[in-house]
Parts: sequence; C-alpha cells; structure tokens
Amino acid sequence: MTRVLDAQLKRALAERIRYYNELGIYDFYRRSGPADEPSLADSATDLLETGDTPHLAGEDVRATLIQPEEREDMTRRAAVARRVQDENSFEVVSDKAEYGIADQAKALKIIREDLGDCTRCVLHKQGRKQIVFGVGNPRAELMFIGEAPGADEDQQGEPFVGRAGQLLNNMIKAMGLRRQDVYIANIIKCRPPGNRTPERDECETCSPFLMRQVVAIKPKVIVALGAVAAKTLLAVNAPMSELRGQWYDFRGTKLAVTYHPAFLLRDPRQKKETWKDLQMVMKELGLKPPDKSNQENSEQPKNG
Ligand code: URA
Repeated sequence: MTRVLDAQLKRALAERIRYYNELGIYDFYRRSGPADEPSLADSATDLLETGDTPHLAGEDVRATLIQPEEREDMTRRAAVARRVQDENSFEVVSDKAEYGIADQAKALKIIREDLGDCTRCVLHKQGRKQIVFGVGNPRAELMFIGEAPGADEDQQGEPFVGRAGQLLNNMIKAMGLRRQDVYIANIIKCRPPGNRTPERDECETCSPFLMRQVVAIKPKVIVALGAVAAKTLLAVNAPMSELRGQWYDFRGTKLAVTYHPAFLLRDPRQKKETWKDLQMVMKELGLKPPDKSNQENSEQPKNG
C-alpha cells in the first residue's frame, strides 16, 4: 500500500523506530486497525520499506507498534508497578537468608539455591534449557547487567558467551580487567523464546533475585547494558541516547548505562560512545587501560 505520510507523522515514526532500535528491535509486523483506516503499523512498515529509517537490520525479534496514547498509558502503569515492586523487593532482600552474610560467594550460593529449578514465570515452559544465574568474581567491584540469555547462554548456562559476549569480553579487556574480575548477570535468567524482549512480568518476577545478587556482591559500580537493563533497573522510560553518559544512584550503588554489545555488533559506530561510558566507569574505579605489552601476563585477580 502506498501512502504519503505527512512530515510530522514521518518524524514521529522515525523517532519511534529509533526507540525500538535502541531496544534491539528491528522488525515490525502489521496489526490490523479499523477497516479502511491505515494503521500506524502500516505507515511504519511503509517507512521501513522506503529505507527512510535511522537503522535497520534483520533480527528474529518482533514487535507491535502501539498507538502513542496507549504507550504513554502503559508507561505510566509500568512506572507505578515498578515503584511498588521496587519497594517490595527491597524489603524482601533484608528478609532473606543470605542477608548480612559477609562471604559473598556463600551469599550467592544461598540465592542460587533459593532460585532452584525456577518455575515462577512462563519461561520455564517455553523452551529454556537451563537457568543462567550469573558468573564472575563474587567480590567484584564492577558488575555488568544485560537483558536475558540468548541461545548460546541457554546452552552453556553462562551469561554473555555468544558473539555479544565476545564483544563484552573485549570491552572488559579494554578497561584493563579480565572477565573473571567482574560479575556478569542479566535482568532475567531464562532465555525468552526466539530471543524476544522480556515481558514486564518476567522482569518483575526474576529481578528480585538479581537485586539479591547485587546486595550480596556490593559492587562499587553497575553497568547496565542496553535499554531493557537500564529501564528495568532505573524504572524510567527514556531513549538510550538520554540515559547513557551520566551516573545514577541505584540503591546506594553508582550505576552507568551504556549500549548493549549486541546493539554494537549491529551499529559499530556507537562503539566510540560506549568507550566514553566505559572511561567514565574506569575513572570511578581508578582503572587504567592495559599496557598492551604485558596484557596477557597477569594472573592476579583484580577487584577484590
Ligand atoms: N544478551 C544479554 O543481554 N545477555 C546475555 O547473557 C547474552 C546476550
């Protein structure tokens, strides 16, 4: 269907598509609107077909475009729900068996045992092979939090082991650290089918365990990788371009936001911006980029 979009709608759609791209969503399908009335999704698809978009790439993630009022409404409801959830999960942490245990590894073990063979959300019956709890130094000063396990992570039981993981490893190395010096986890611990974006209820069900991991590890700095992690942790709704490049207080821990490595694989131009975010983190942690001449030699764990 060919239609002429007015400039304002076109700008609004481009903005919306950029927002979804930042979330890692690149493909859209049509949802039928009222008969004879072109839906927003139709218009967006036309826009995509003309190539007049900020960024496009093939991906197996699907999203429905929703009407602006509907989205604002959902955002408001989500913010309220998150605040309530946030307050609750904070109280719950201080009630848990691991609370007050000084040995971080022991505390993490208790949390993992409590998680068990989790069936708390639908993901346990949607093809997940295993729970991906988190990996790294239980005394890490730096913690990375991503979105959700993908196929490789689901297979191996460890976060960030696929292509995005390789890039994360390079980012960590560029900061003068090794993967085993930091702690890596995700907002949710089970792979969503087809790598779709996690649903809000899945994040809310799972993230209390992540909160407990954060409380146990007590990192100096958390880096939220990508929009899903940033928005879930900070309970805000803003584009990545606004979220990154500054510090947040996450329950007493400094939190920075940067692009998700999977996004950087699609848009390597953003690596420069990511490096600025990582340098901000390095400054906070007193880290220097590695001396290339003896990069491979050190066996001493850093950070704790
Ligand atoms: N993407 C994530 O957000 N987490 C992973 O563990 C892997 C890919």
